[in-house]
Amino acid sequence: MTNPVRYSQKPVELPLDSWLLEGDPVPGCKVCTALGLQRGQARKQNDWAAACAAAREIRNHGHGHGGAA
Ligand SMILES: [Zn+2]
Repeated sequence: MTNPVRYSQKPVELPLDSWLLEGDPVPGCKVCTALGLQRGQARKQNDWAAACAAAREIRNHGHGHGGAA
């Protein structure tokens, strides 16, 4: 079926809330460090899905400051 795009869409630059990319890698934690690098590289490539996933993993890694035990 033909379905021409007849509405203009702006190129997606940052379709996410900024907090989705936040997360503090814990110094000395190999996992956090690797995830932080991943996130940085993904952001450079505008791969927000990957950056978001890495940030979420950093947040979920949980080093016992506050929320998840
Ligand atoms: Zn960690």
